Amino acid sequence: MSEKTTVAAELELVHNAEPLLTIEDLCFAASNYLEAKPVDDIRRAYYFAKEAHEGQTRSSGEPYITHPLAVAHVLTMMHMDNECIMAGLLHDVIEDTEVSREALAVEFSEEVALLVDGVTKLAKAAFETQQHAQAENLRKMLLAMSQDIRVIIVKLADRLHNMRTLGHLRPDKRRRIAHETLDIYAPIAQRLGMNLMRCELEDLGFHVLYPIRYRVLSDAVRKARGNRKEIVSQITRSALERMEQEGLTAEIQGREKNLYSLYQKMVSKRLTFSEVMDVYAFRIVVDDVDACYRMLGVVHNLYKPVQGKFKDYIAIPKANGYQSLHTVLFGPYGVPIEVQIRSRDMDQMAEAGVAAHWLYKTGENEGSNQAHRLARQWLQGILEMQKGSGDSVEFLENLRIDLFPEEIYVFTPNGQIMAMQRGASVVDFAYAVHSDVGNSCVAAKVGRHLVPLSTKLETGQSVEIITASTSHPNPSWLNFVTTAKARSSIRHYLKQLRNEDAELLGRRLLNKHLSVFSSVVDDLSKERISQVLEEFELDNFEQLLGELGLGNRSALVVAQKLTQNGTSLDEESAAPLIIAGTEGLVVSFARCCHPIPGDPIHGFISAGRGIVVHQASCKNTLKLRTQNEKWLDVTWADDVSREFPVDIIVHAKNQRGVLATVAVAVSEADSNIDNVIVDERDGGYSDLHLTIEVTDRQHLAQVIRRLRRVDLIERISRKN
Ligand code: MN
Repeated sequence: MSEKTTVAAELELVHNAEPLLTIEDLCFAASNYLEAKPVDDIRRAYYFAKEAHEGQTRSSGEPYITHPLAVAHVLTMMHMDNECIMAGLLHDVIEDTEVSREALAVEFSEEVALLVDGVTKLAKAAFETQQHAQAENLRKMLLAMSQDIRVIIVKLADRLHNMRTLGHLRPDKRRRIAHETLDIYAPIAQRLGMNLMRCELEDLGFHVLYPIRYRVLSDAVRKARGNRKEIVSQITRSALERMEQEGLTAEIQGREKNLYSLYQKMVSKRLTFSEVMDVYAFRIVVDDVDACYRMLGVVHNLYKPVQGKFKDYIAIPKANGYQSLHTVLFGPYGVPIEVQIRSRDMDQMAEAGVAAHWLYKTGENEGSNQAHRLARQWLQGILEMQKGSGDSVEFLENLRIDLFPEEIYVFTPNGQIMAMQRGASVVDFAYAVHSDVGNSCVAAKVGRHLVPLSTKLETGQSVEIITASTSHPNPSWLNFVTTAKARSSIRHYLKQLRNEDAELLGRRLLNKHLSVFSSVVDDLSKERISQVLEEFELDNFEQLLGELGLGNRSALVVAQKLTQNGTSLDEESAAPLIIAGTEGLVVSFARCCHPIPGDPIHGFISAGRGIVVHQASCKNTLKLRTQNEKWLDVTWADDVSREFPVDIIVHAKNQRGVLATVAVAVSEADSNIDNVIVDERDGGYSDLHLTIEVTDRQHLAQVIRRLRRVDLIERISRKN
C-alpha cells in the first residue's frame, strides 16, 4: 500500500521551497532519457538565455535565469523532448529581452521559435483594458497551440513555477494570477488530461485565494488520514489476499482528492468535511485491459457493489482520453468504497494526459495516441469557435463555457456515441453533429418521441434530429443552448443575417436622403463613392450601407457627401421611410409604447441596433427629442401583415372565472394573450394588464368592443 497519495505529494510541493538547480542538474536529468546531442542543445539554449537575461532579476531578487531553468526542469520531469525543454529555457527572451523570434529560428530551430513565440504575450500598449489584453493573449496562445500542442505544455510549466513562487508579488497581483490559474490554466490542464498538473495548479491557486480555508482543510485531511489507517489497511489486505487466489498481480493505492476538489465538493454539494471524507477510495493498477475486467470481478466478489454506480470509461473514454473502470462497493461496517481499476498505461495517461509518453507516441501506445487525437479534436473546435466569435472577450467567454464541462453520453441514430456537457439541449446536439445540421434543425426525436428543441438531454438517450432546408437558427435558441459551439454558430448566423438586413435598410435610408438632392443610389458616380469610402476607411459600398442600416452613421451626412452637397437642405421634403414590419433584425418596435399599424410613429436611430420605432406620442422619447439628427420620419406601409404586441389594462370585478372570460373574449376577436399581470385592487376590483397580439388599430378596436360586452368588465384602456 503506497501511502504517498496525490494530496500528500502535492502538499510537499506547496510547502517545500524548490531546491536551487544548476544547468548540470538539468542536463543530468535529461540524459536519463535523451541522447548526448539533444542534451548539448539544451545546454546551449541555457547559456543563450542566461546571457540574454543577464542583469535581470525576479521579484524575489534571484537572477532571472533561475525561473526558465526551473520551468525547463518541470518539463524534464515530464520527459518532454529537447525542443520543448529548450523552449522552456528560452520562453521569456522574446518578451523580456532584445532577442527576436527570427533570431531564435536561426540560432536554434523554427520549432523552438514557434514554441517560444506562442507563450510570448502581445505588447501591452495595444489594449484598452486588462481583460482585453488577457483575452487576446490567450487567443494568440491557443492558436499557436493548435499548430503545436507543446506550446501549452511549456506555458503550463511556466505557470506552475510562477504559482510556486508567487510569494514575492504584490497581494493584488498574486490574487489576479491565482484567479486566472483556476479559471483558465487548471481547466486546460484538465482538458488535456494532465491531472497531476491540474491538481497542483488548483491547490496552489486555492492556497493563494483562501489561505485560511486551505490550512484548516489540509490539517483536517492529515488528521482524518490517521484515523482511517485501520480500515484502509484492512480493505487492502483482504483485496490482496483475494487477488492472489485468483492469480492476479496488482498495485493498490489509497486515493484522496486534492484539497481544491474537496473544497469545491463541499461548497457545491453543501457537504460537511466529514461527509466528503466519508468515502474510502482506492486505485488498483494492473498490467493490461484484460486484467482490469478480471479485477472488477474480484472486487465485486469481495464486497457487494452499489447498484448503478459502475462506469466503464475503458470502453467509452472521457473527452480528455481518461480511461478506467469505476465502481462503488459496500465495505466493512457499511462504509462506501470507491474503486478505480486501470492498466499501467491508462494510469500514466490519467496523470500526464497528452504529455504522457511524449517521446514514444508510436503504434504501441494506443492510449496516448487517443489523447492526442482528442486534444486535436478539441483544438479544432476552439479554432472554429474563434472564427465565429466577434471579439476576443466573447471568445474568452465561449472558451470558459467549453472548459467547465460535466459530461453526458448520448447516441446518434446509427449508434455512434457523442459526449455532451450536462444540460446540453437538442440544439446543442444538432450543432455537435454538424453546424449545417444545427442551422437547419426544426425538431427532434428522443427515443422515438417528438420533443421540442429546448429539451435537455440525458445520458443514454438516442437522438435523431429532423432538419428542413428552409429552416434557420432562431435568436431564442440562445436562451437554452449551453455548448460554446452552438452558441457561437447561432450568433455567427444572426450576425450575418443582421448584416444582410442592415444593408437593405441602409440602401433605403440612403435613397430617402438622396431624394432631397434629386438623386438615387444607382446614379451615384463610382469615383465619388470610392472617395467617400476612403474617407470613412471602409472597404466597400456594402459595408457603408450596413453601417447606415445599423445606425452607426447618419444617412443624411453620407447623402450630402456622396452628392458633394455641403448645404443642409430642408429635410421635410423627403418622403418618410416606409415601415412594413418585415425589415428583420434592424428595425425594432419600442417596448415602452408598443406602436401598432395606424398609430402615428417616428423612428429613432440607435447606434448598432438600427431603427427603433416609437409612437409619436411616446413619453419616453421626450428627453431624446433634442437629438434632431437621430430622428427619422417614418410611416406604416399600407399592407402590414404581421401581428404586433400591445398592452391594454382591463379593470374588472374580482370574481372567480373573470380571467377565463376575458381570455375567451380576446380569442373570439381573433387575438391572443401573450402575457397577463393581475394587479389586485380594493373594493373587489382588479386591474388585468394584458399584452395581446393585434394586426393594427382597427383590430385592437374590435378586441376592445368585444371585451366591453363582458359584464364583469368596468373599464378598458390602452396603456401608454
Ligand atoms: Mn515565465
